[in-house]
Amino acid sequence: MKLYSTNNKNLRVPFQEAVFNALPVDNGLYMPEVIPRLDPLFIRDIQQYSLQEIAFYIANALIGDDIPESDLKAIVEDAINFDAPVKFLSAETAVLELFHGPSYAFKDFGARFMSRVMAYFSKKGEKLLDVLVATSGDTGGAVALGFLGVEGTRVTILYPKGKVSKVQEEQLTTNGQNIRALEVNGTFDDCQALVKQAFNDISLNEELRLTSANSINIARLIPQTFYYFWAYAQLKAQGVRDVVFTVPSGNFGNIGAGLLAYKMGLPVKHFVAATNVNDTVPRFLKSGMYDPKPSIQTLANAMDVGNPSNWVRIQDLFAGNLDELRGMISSYTYDDQQTKEAMDELYEKYNYIACPHTAIAYLASKAYKIENHGEYASVFLSTAHPCKFPDAISETVFSEIELPEGAKSLYGKEKLVEELEVDYESFKSFLLENN
Ligand SMILES: *Cc1c(COP(=O)(O)O)cnc(C)c1O
Repeated sequence: MKLYSTNNKNLRVPFQEAVFNALPVDNGLYMPEVIPRLDPLFIRDIQQYSLQEIAFYIANALIGDDIPESDLKAIVEDAINFDAPVKFLSAETAVLELFHGPSYAFKDFGARFMSRVMAYFSKKGEKLLDVLVATSGDTGGAVALGFLGVEGTRVTILYPKGKVSKVQEEQLTTNGQNIRALEVNGTFDDCQALVKQAFNDISLNEELRLTSANSINIARLIPQTFYYFWAYAQLKAQGVRDVVFTVPSGNFGNIGAGLLAYKMGLPVKHFVAATNVNDTVPRFLKSGMYDPKPSIQTLANAMDVGNPSNWVRIQDLFAGNLDELRGMISSYTYDDQQTKEAMDELYEKYNYIACPHTAIAYLASKAYKIENHGEYASVFLSTAHPCKFPDAISETVFSEIELPEGAKSLYGKEKLVEELEVDYESFKSFLLENN
C-alpha cells in the first residue's frame, strides 16, 4: 500500500511511514494511492462472514503486502474483539451500536487497530515508542485502553481538568502500566498546543521517539470501514436491500471511512452527516463555500469541531466534484435543545437511551426520511455509550442506564494522575525526568 498526500499526489510513502508520521510534511492528509474494488462475490456472500473475517478481508485488500496475511490476521483478531450490532427500533429504523469496545466509544476500532499496527512495525531493540495524545474525553480513553499493555509503547495523555466526565476520567487515570495521565489546568486547546509544541521540539525528539495518536492517522481510518461492511452483512441477512447510513460527525473521520467503504464497492444508497451547531459541512453542501469557524461548545462535545480535519479526505475521494458529493451526502445540523428533545423522544418512543451524539444522528436520519421516501433501512450510528455523558442526559433517564460491567469496575479504583500547569517547560521536564 502506497499513500499520497492530498497536497501533493507525487509524494508516495509506504504504509509504515504514513502510520508513524500521521501527517505528511506538506500538511496534507495521506490517502491510498489505489482504492481497491472488492470482488462482487465477496459482497454477494458477505452475510456468511463474521465481523473479524470481514475486517481481515478489507484490511488485506487495502494494506496488501505491507503486512503479511498471517500477521495481519492476528492484528485484526486481537484488535477487533468486540461486536457492533445493528438493532432495529422499528421496521425501517435501526441503530448500529459502535460502543461495545473497552472505552465504550467507536474510537476503540481506530485506536486498537492503530496501536497494534504501530507495535508490529516497531522492531525489537528499537527505542520505546512514546505516544502523546491530547483529549477532550473520548479519544484519550480509546487510545489509553488501545495501547494498554502493548509492548514497546508508552502513552501520555493530556486532558483538561474538570472538563471530562467521570467515566471518561476513570478510563484515563486508572490504567497504570504503560499509560500516564496528565491533568492540565487549562482547556482542551491548551492540551493540544502542549502536544504540538513537543512534536516541534528538536532536542526533545532527539531524546524520545515521539508519535501522535491523532485521529487523522490512516491506521485509525482503515478499521472504521470494517463496521460499515459488517452492518451491511447483518442487514442483508435480514433481507434488507438498500441502506442509508446517518453518521454523527465532528472531524468527519467516521463518515469518511464510510465513504471509503462505498468507493471500495459497499452498496450504500446515501450517507447523512449529522452535526451539532458546528455546521461547517452542512453550510458547505448548501453554498459550495468552505468557510470554517471557531468551534462552539455543545452537549455533544465530541463533535465540537469548527474545521473538520478529515473533510479534505472526503473532497479527495470525490475529486472535488461537488455534484457527485451532494448526490451521495446530505447534512443536517441541530442545537442543544433539539438534542435534548431527541434523547427524550428515543427514550419515550423506543425505550432507548442514547448519548447526545447518537441522538443528533437519529434526528438527521428522520429528517432525511421525510424528504426522501422509499424502501430502505435508515441506520444511524451510535458512537458512544450514554454512561459517558451524564451532564447531557436528564437525571431521570440517566438513572435508568445500565452501566456496563467494565464501567462499574472502574469505580473506586485508585486515580493515577499528575497535575500540570499550561507551561511547556514543565511538560518537557515531566517527559524527560520520567523517561
Ligand atoms: C469522536 C466522536 C464523534 C465524532 O467522530 P468524527 O470521526 O470526528 O466525525 C462522534 N461521537 C462521539 C461519541 C465521538 O467520540
